[in-house]
Amino acid sequence: MVSIVVPCYFEEDALVQTIPTLANFLAARVEEGLASPQSEIIFIDDGSADGTWDRICAAHAKSHVIKGIRLAANAGHQNALLAGYEQARGQFIISIDADLQDDVEVMRDMLVDARNGVDIVYGVREARNTDTFFKRFTAEGFYKLMALFGVDLVFNHADYRGMSRRALNALLQYREKSLFLRGLVPKLGFRTSKVFYNRKERSAGETKYPLRKMLAFAIHGITSTSFVPLRIVTLLGLGLFLFSMVVLGWIIWIKFFTERAIPGWASTLIPQTVFSGMQLLCLGIIGEYMAVIFNEVKDRPRFHVAEITDDTDGSANTV
Ligand code: UDP
Ligand code: MG
Repeated sequence: MVSIVVPCYFEEDALVQTIPTLANFLAARVEEGLASPQSEIIFIDDGSADGTWDRICAAHAKSHVIKGIRLAANAGHQNALLAGYEQARGQFIISIDADLQDDVEVMRDMLVDARNGVDIVYGVREARNTDTFFKRFTAEGFYKLMALFGVDLVFNHADYRGMSRRALNALLQYREKSLFLRGLVPKLGFRTSKVFYNRKERSAGETKYPLRKMLAFAIHGITSTSFVPLRIVTLLGLGLFLFSMVVLGWIIWIKFFTERAIPGWASTLIPQTVFSGMQLLCLGIIGEYMAVIFNEVKDRPRFHVAEITDDTDGSANTV
C-alpha cells in the first residue's frame, strides 16, 4: 500500500491538474502491481483561504483514493507535511509538492527501489533550467550555506522523497517542534538511494517561498540542526581574547619602556567599535538558539486538524 502526501497552501489553481495527474499515476501503478488498490493520496490544506479545500473535497467525493486533511491554520510546509505523514497508512510513503514541479514519473523509480528493499529514496533535482536565475542562485546557495554549517543535506533534494513504513515511524519519533525534515531524514540511517529528475515550472500559482521566507528557512535549518555557529562564536571569543593579551603586552611595553605613550583616540575607538560589533553578532547568534529552545520548551502542538475527509459518506467530516 502506497501513500502519497501532498501539502497545499493556496493551491486551488495547481490542484486542477495535480489531482488527476497523481490519481492517474497511482491507478497505473496499481494496474502494474507496484501499488495495492488500497493506496491513497492525502492532500493537506495548510490553512488556505481560497478554494483548495473545496477542490480536495470534490475529488474525494468522486474517488476515495483521494483523502484530505484541513489544518485549522497555516502551520507551514514542514508541519503540513508532518500532518500528512501522521495520517498516512501506507507501507511506502511519498511526499511531493502540489505544484507538479517535481517529476511525477520518477515516483515509479521510487516504488521500484522500495521493492528492492531501499528505505529512503531521495528525489534529486538534476537541472533547474526552468527556475529563474534568482531562484536557482538562492536555492543552490541555500544548500551550500547549509553544507558550510555542517548540516547534513542531500544536495538539491527538497521534500520529494519516498520512505518505508519503518523509516517513517523512526522519523515520527523525533518530537522536536522546529522541524527541518530534510536535515532530519539523512540522520535516520537505513538503506537510501536517489532518483534524478529535471525540475519543471510550477503548473499554476505562485511560489510560497519568496526570498524572505527562504532566508528564514535557512536560519531555521541551521539553528535546528547545527551547533557550528555557536562553535564559531566560541572560537571567535577565544581568538579575540588571545589577541587582546597581545595588545595588552604591547600597551604595557609602550607605556613603561618607550617615550611614545601619547593618548590616541584610534586605539580606543577601533577596538570599541570592532568588539561591540562582535559582541552584538555573538549575542544575536546565541539569541537565535535561545529562540529555538524557547519554542521547544513551550512544547506547543505543531498543528491542529480542523477536518478530515471521511471514508463512509464521502463528505468532509468536522472533527
Ligand atoms: N506549502 C504549504 N504551506 C506553506 C507554504 C507552502 O503547505 O506555508 C506547500 C505549497 O503548497 C507547495 C509546497 O509547500 O505544495 C512547496 O511550496 P512552493 O512550491 O511554493 O515552494 P518552491 O517550490 O517555490 O520552493
Ligand atoms: Mg514549488
